[in-house]
Amino acid sequence: MSVYNDTIYPRLPVSVQNIACTAMGFLLYRNRFNAHFHKTLANWEKSVHDPIEKLHELQRQRLDRLLDRARRFVPYYRDLPPSSDARDPVVALEETLASIPPLEKRFYRDQPEAFFARDIQRSRLHRGRTSGTTGTALPLWYLPETLAEEYATVWRLRRSCGVENPAASNLTFTGNITVPFGQTKPPFWRYNAFSGQHLFSIYHMTPMNLRSYVEEVHRVTARYVQGYPSSIHLVARALLEAGRPLPKGRLAAVFTSSESLLAFQRETIEKAFGAPIRDRYGVSEFGASMTECSKGRLHVDMEFCIVEVDVTEESDLWETGPLLITGLSDGATPLFRYRIGDVGTRSKRPCPCGRAGDVFFEVDGRVEDYVLTPDGRLVGRLDHVFKQQLEVAEAQILQDDKNSIDVLIIPRESYTDVSARRLLKEIRSRLGEEIEIRIRRVTNIPREPNGKFRAVKSSVGRITA
Ligand SMILES: [Zn+2]
Repeated sequence: MSVYNDTIYPRLPVSVQNIACTAMGFLLYRNRFNAHFHKTLANWEKSVHDPIEKLHELQRQRLDRLLDRARRFVPYYRDLPPSSDARDPVVALEETLASIPPLEKRFYRDQPEAFFARDIQRSRLHRGRTSGTTGTALPLWYLPETLAEEYATVWRLRRSCGVENPAASNLTFTGNITVPFGQTKPPFWRYNAFSGQHLFSIYHMTPMNLRSYVEEVHRVTARYVQGYPSSIHLVARALLEAGRPLPKGRLAAVFTSSESLLAFQRETIEKAFGAPIRDRYGVSEFGASMTECSKGRLHVDMEFCIVEVDVTEESDLWETGPLLITGLSDGATPLFRYRIGDVGTRSKRPCPCGRAGDVFFEVDGRVEDYVLTPDGRLVGRLDHVFKQQLEVAEAQILQDDKNSIDVLIIPRESYTDVSARRLLKEIRSRLGEEIEIRIRRVTNIPREPNGKFRAVKSSVGRITA
């Protein structure tokens, strides 16, 4: 649902576009913040303090209820074995999940209709799309209640940071094309007056245009920032380069989502906006939600989903591997143990913040975000290479064969041959001596068609089909 892609919208005057954004804001607001949202949020703000035993019991009940319906009304799941009847909820969850084979994306791709619950009236459903950059996004359907529960996880996080009201004024940096591509002069933002939302275009961020973004960020009063970390990072950099960071404490927090938050982005954003980042991991399939705590870890929203790790590597303290997600909300197209294509590292110890439940150190992003070395290693999280490289403003690694990579960098003025050698050394320390590394200076790194930034794009580093 979007008016922005319409052929009429780009031709309207700015003032009318603002009205359209406000109308859109009203519709979205009504969809997301319904009675089920308020009820769920109130419940989950209590259960966030529950001990782990209680959360597991809740997961078990929700999973069994969903499985029960799936066996009766979802053709794909007709022959699932019965759920475990073990007394201990942890044992029951383990046994029940173990009896369901992991769901690969291609199974869904081959027959999406087979996942559709037959007991639900189609007129009640919203239509969405699956996530992922490879191949075509597939249709999926969800109930308003599922969307409301997803937003309950979002708003539980925001409220814990002191942003109480869903209509609180904010600066938004997401992929909506609210400003026509052809526009060359400010304003590169539109305003949704209904929910106090300043919608900044993420497609007009040239160094020159960013000056007007800096002005606008200072001019408006907002409680928080939300959006893609790569876009917020560009504005953060512009704020710092202009010597005009926002005063500390003016914003409650910066809420990032939809892309992996990279180490160098976090530092710059927190400094420029004078507020802590609280990241969130969510997926379009509504099968997973993780929200960051004050200790910088991602907590699985246990009421909403189950996240398993298909372990490929582990120590006493952590385990890493592709994630299998099971949404506990989605009754329209339920997906059990769905291999979403992201890799995560889960802590084996409870989080020092005191919140019970599963906790991740990080979700490393998609499996396509790994570089494959000539000796067959898959190396993830290469963005850390750029964390200490102050002379590099933005960077991207491209790989099309396993013997070489291209490193695109946007150099700052301070970038010299020494910086290049240091960068090369950093990369070599992770990828080894064998791989060929070509560093290429560029002035711009293109975004994906959906406006997202990817730090690593490898067509050979995929570890699952
Ligand atoms: Zn924590």
